Amino acid sequence: MRHLILVLGDQLDADSSAFDGFNPEQDAVWMAEVAEESTHVWSHKARIALFLSAMRHFRDAMIARGRTVHYRRLDDEGNAGTLAAELAAAVEKLRPGKLILTEAGDWRVQASIEKTASALGVPVEIRSDRHFLCTREAFAAHVSGRKQLRMEYFYREMRRKTGVLMEGDRPIGGAWNYDAENRGAFGSEGPGQVAEPVAFVPDAITREVIALVEQRFANHPGNLAGFDWPVTRDQALAALRDFVTHRLPHFGMYQDAMWRARPGDRMLFSGDAPAASFDRRDAYLFHSRLSAALNLKWLDPREVIAAAEAAWRDGRAPLAGVEGFIRQILGWREYVRGIYGHFMPGYRDLNALDAVEPLPAFYWTGDTEMNCLSQVIRQTLAFGYAHHIQRLMVTGLYALLLGVRPQAVHAWYLAVYVDAVEWVELPNTIGMSQYGDGGLMASKPYVASGKYIQRMSNYCERCRFDPSKSTGDDACPFTTLYWDFLMRHEPLLAKNPRMALQVRSMKRLGPAEREAIRAQAARWRA
Ligand code: FAD
Ligand code: SF4
Repeated sequence: MRHLILVLGDQLDADSSAFDGFNPEQDAVWMAEVAEESTHVWSHKARIALFLSAMRHFRDAMIARGRTVHYRRLDDEGNAGTLAAELAAAVEKLRPGKLILTEAGDWRVQASIEKTASALGVPVEIRSDRHFLCTREAFAAHVSGRKQLRMEYFYREMRRKTGVLMEGDRPIGGAWNYDAENRGAFGSEGPGQVAEPVAFVPDAITREVIALVEQRFANHPGNLAGFDWPVTRDQALAALRDFVTHRLPHFGMYQDAMWRARPGDRMLFSGDAPAASFDRRDAYLFHSRLSAALNLKWLDPREVIAAAEAAWRDGRAPLAGVEGFIRQILGWREYVRGIYGHFMPGYRDLNALDAVEPLPAFYWTGDTEMNCLSQVIRQTLAFGYAHHIQRLMVTGLYALLLGVRPQAVHAWYLAVYVDAVEWVELPNTIGMSQYGDGGLMASKPYVASGKYIQRMSNYCERCRFDPSKSTGDDACPFTTLYWDFLMRHEPLLAKNPRMALQVRSMKRLGPAEREAIRAQAARWRA
């Protein structure tokens, strides 16, 4: 054998750089399902099932193209359980002249492959990942010479480079972003008729994987009852068309809004089967739910961006929403990937706020009286999905205010979402959500009181706490902990002009009020 092409679970692109020059007479593909990738964090069952099913579908697509695939199933006899051991066994058996890999998304995985190859004395060629629009070298050039990194400047650079939503060198519509138009909340009537996203009924491969996951990972969090994620390229394309047609037109306006149907609303709360007790429309609202298909590489970000831009050009979606959606992919997604590639492995251990609390146990069950957290966590366990503001301003915000160690928060986010891959999850968690990098990625900590959640959702209506209160039996823990956070970190925050308003209002609290808040926060933590 000349070359063995290594394909990882999140590299399901038949035309990736690893396949350049592939010769079916001399080369072969290697893929392995290993338990380690499902257990190094306590993975949600749907995350495991999605990866395994997608990998098996990719294997079959490769075989249909005439490529030889050496594939190890999780339940194959003697499966060693780690990528390193499985790769070593494959190299022993197949004796390839060279291993070829498109750069891995996960730093740990690439380090392990390189170490294994070196121990076996087989050369490994790592090729650049052209799935992304910004290479690691281009990101390094963006970083070099800058005192401060900000997504907005990176995004403008990407718009100029790619010509997306541009007229010559000017942004279409005259503005680079329409963020201010993208922060609407639903009125008291809720989102109204949201088109239910297309669901993909499990085929034989997915059903087999689901049974395997239920058996091998029975005690893992999450639920597979409503598993309906796209697991093939065709399904991913259908999910993209569905989003662009039905939800993109409203995406921008309600990007930050959250909602939970009330009894008597669009549906009745039913039974205790977690997936069945949620309306899928409330979980996904107007979001695309394309992150997993993108991260597995079923979809190319360029085709997703082009589909959204075309919808605007044809008058099917407004500019503000289309720009807001494209910013997430051309801006945030590329930016966090750049941060990860540039600052790993040190980035993983950052803890600028010296946060030391453990993650509350209810993050794995949703069993808490705080209704917003209970809803978002239960929805996460039901679907393996929560949208960005649910992640940032409910589960992330609470951990930040409470002072949970960022690495514990990271392990949770990497475990519970179907789209979780470390290069995208880690900077979002350590940097954007927990401010663990001290402002490298975000210009200020995303902190707010319970009143923000009240404004952006209907969660507070059915909660025993009152978001406007910071002390007393019915005080909202978010509100108590918000003021406590500002007091605890005042010296640091006072230096940040973007926090000036929040610090100023904290300074208006009298000594007795401050003492009462501190005491209540300490009781809550205890
Ligand atoms: P939409 O709201 O429809 O957005 C469109 C697309 O934009 C997404 O599919 C995604 O590819 C991209 N996108 C949006 N926001 C971001 C962002 N902040 N960073 C990178 N890409 C973005 N996203 C992941 O893909 N994997 C993760 O593991 C992940 N972990 C996160 C952890 C935390 C603490 C936070 C705050 C955010 C995280 N995100 C992660 C980003 C974002 O929440 C998800 O991409 C989004 O919710 C996925 O749902 P969607 O496809 O419906 O997205
Ligand atoms: Fe969450 Fe506080 Fe609102 Fe309850 S009152 S739902 S804890 S923000």
